[in-house]
Amino acid sequence: MTRDFSCGGVVLEGRSVLLVRVANFKNKKIWTFPKGHIEEGETCRQAALREVREETGYNCRVVSPLLRVGYRYAIAGEVVRKEVQWYLMDHPVRVGKPDPAEILEVRWAALENTASLLHYPSDHHLIDLVREILETKNGGASARRRSEKHQP
Ligand code: ATP
Repeated sequence: MTRDFSCGGVVLEGRSVLLVRVANFKNKKIWTFPKGHIEEGETCRQAALREVREETGYNCRVVSPLLRVGYRYAIAGEVVRKEVQWYLMDHPVRVGKPDPAEILEVRWAALENTASLLHYPSDHHLIDLVREILETKNGGASARRRSEKHQP
């Protein structure tokens, strides 16, 4: 069994998330998140930022690690066990164009509309996590506002 490892980003702007459309090994077109392999001398975080920039044209900022996802696939009769470290990212700044060699399309999707677009169960799980994080953050902020209002 071969092992493989990549790093990627779930990029948020407000309540929209950045998706890429790629062709899988069976040439099926799939919406997912940008990711790729670590290059020599890079950390996983740096690789994730570079892959997001190369695949989407957006420079971003890492907010925090999000999740490490594992899956298996077979290629030429060989089973590959892959792990991907995902980071939550924000502050996207357009600095270039998507890489046409790998990426068929790039789009923003409202978090509420990703269910019909995303294919992999782990991608749906990532969206659930992001929604939880946003709800905790917003819940925290509104709770703070409520308690500030009640200060004498
Ligand atoms: P990278 O983008 O890291 O360079 P890659 O293009 O070499 O990766 P993957 O995107 O890992 O390869 O795809 C390899 C196989 O795994 C494909 O058949 C793809 O459909 C499948 N795959 C990709 N992501 C997932 C996932 N999150 N869950 C299950 N299978 C996946």
